[in-house]
Amino acid sequence: MTRMWGINPKLMCDQHLLGEHSEMHQEVGTLRNHAHGRKVVEGHAEENQIDTSLIQERHDDLVEELERRGFEHDSPMDYRDKLDLGEINIEKNIKELAERCEECRERMTDSNVI
Ligand SMILES: [Zn+2]
Ligand SMILES: [Zn+2]
Repeated sequence: MTRMWGINPKLMCDQHLLGEHSEMHQEVGTLRNHAHGRKVVEGHAEENQIDTSLIQERHDDLVEELERRGFEHDSPMDYRDKLDLGEINIEKNIKELAERCEECRERMTDSNVI
């Protein structure tokens, strides 16, 4: 499932950082390459899975942390949002990710976020 977590990248494990990063590219690719892309992305926005206005900034924040951890990044993004669709709830996402992933949970606990 597509999900823009929006959580401070330092609180996320490598796997979830990489996953969210590629999902940001997928959303942009879907908008650009599919005739029905807008509908697909609207669907994600309606489920509060993404906020299109944050895609570029979020991508860049994720990349900054991935590079800090030694991952190479060769997929620059140049997306200017005109849709302004969707909203994400970061507090809720923190709780959900903590339930789903032990490594993310440990990072959050260590940082006294949960
Ligand atoms: Zn990228
Ligand atoms: Zn994780």
